[in-house]
Amino acid sequence: MKVRIEIDTADFASIPVPVDMGDGNGDSCPVATQDMDVNLENRQKAIDEYDYGPLDPGVDDTGQNDKFWTKIADTFKADMDSALESRCANCAAFNQTSKMLECIAKGIGSEGADDPYDSIQAGDLGYCQFLKFKCASQRVCTAWVSGGPITDEDMSTKGDLL
Ligand code: SF4
Repeated sequence: MKVRIEIDTADFASIPVPVDMGDGNGDSCPVATQDMDVNLENRQKAIDEYDYGPLDPGVDDTGQNDKFWTKIADTFKADMDSALESRCANCAAFNQTSKMLECIAKGIGSEGADDPYDSIQAGDLGYCQFLKFKCASQRVCTAWVSGGPITDEDMSTKGDLL
């Protein structure tokens, strides 16, 4: 039996982060890590509803992303510097456990990549436990919550979130 849990992002301040497993038994991978269409669908939802971005964080220093970061700062009621420091990389929903990275690598490998870990490293990818897609460490969305990332160390102290 599958149980679907929907969580209001307004409640995100209270971690722990919700579990998201394909079959709910704790041993398999989240669907979006294995199914590109599901990942793209959830990613688009993150863009449309939670302003996931920017498209190219590599040009943050040039000012080309200022419009994006100003919007994030406005949403967070924070200054620009604080907004720029808020990234998936330090979001409580960003899962970069070795178990999750194995899932992501397995999914990318099934799409034909020679070395999936190259792709993971290039984007510094992890899995968003909130919005259920593969996200990149230097991006952010309006559902961001401080306290991340989720690491192997957390697994030993907080239990298995994967
Ligand atoms: S990890 Fe956090 S900041 Fe990144 S997309 Fe998920 S909720 Fe948003």
